[in-house]
Amino acid sequence: MTTKRTKRSAVPRPLARQLFVEAGHRCAIPTCRATPLEIAHIVPWARVRRHEFHNMIVLCPNCHTRFDRGDIDRQAMFRYKELLRLSDPNHVAPDDPSPRAGLIRAYRHFQTQIDGWRKSISDLSAAIALGSTGFPVGNVKRCAGLASIARAATDKLGELGGEGTAEAADHVFDWHRQWADDVVDLKLSAFNRSRAEYELWAEERFMSFVALHEEVCESLDLDPTELDFFESERRERDLPEVSLGTLGLWPTDA
Ligand SMILES: [Zn+2]
Repeated sequence: MTTKRTKRSAVPRPLARQLFVEAGHRCAIPTCRATPLEIAHIVPWARVRRHEFHNMIVLCPNCHTRFDRGDIDRQAMFRYKELLRLSDPNHVAPDDPSPRAGLIRAYRHFQTQIDGWRKSISDLSAAIALGSTGFPVGNVKRCAGLASIARAATDKLGELGGEGTAEAADHVFDWHRQWADDVVDLKLSAFNRSRAEYELWAEERFMSFVALHEEVCESLDLDPTELDFFESERRERDLPEVSLGTLGLWPTDA
């Protein structure tokens, strides 16, 4: 008579935190907002047997009981979940004309363009290092083209984000500019770094992005943890496709 049953696993802490933050540490039903809080599965655990962000919501014990009893149906609960998504500061509708949305879009666009440029510099560097057929003119042209697109994205971000943002975005741009110049000028240091030098160099880049993130968040009046550092972080999270916000907005560099 021993039946093996899958024991209900604990909700992983990062996921729980994400759910609490999503609901602002209050019952997710807007007219309630009570505490303390419980985590509920919208489609019951017994059926899905997994913890997934898009199927979970934070409720007070009272609302949780009413949900379990069927006073609040599942369709309504998904609607409450949807409302949380719409109030998420990371969510920017493509057609949202507000300056806030414009700044977030410009920030994501900047990141995408810088990243495309970074790849092209890296490709150029590899082509030079491996090159047996002379200087890779095609790579240089591509790199220069992406540099001017990145420049435009930098200017646009600075324009919308104010002086601090403009300075920080310039700093990110300049870091990549320096790298590109060193590669094109065939500086040995661009091709032959020690491990320690490499780490320091990469750290400088990372910190320039951190400084920019802080400036953008300040312009938006957000805590730096409230806005995704990179949109790609969001991609890796357990979110339904509809929650991806600005992701589909910008062309990705092939
Ligand atoms: Zn409640």
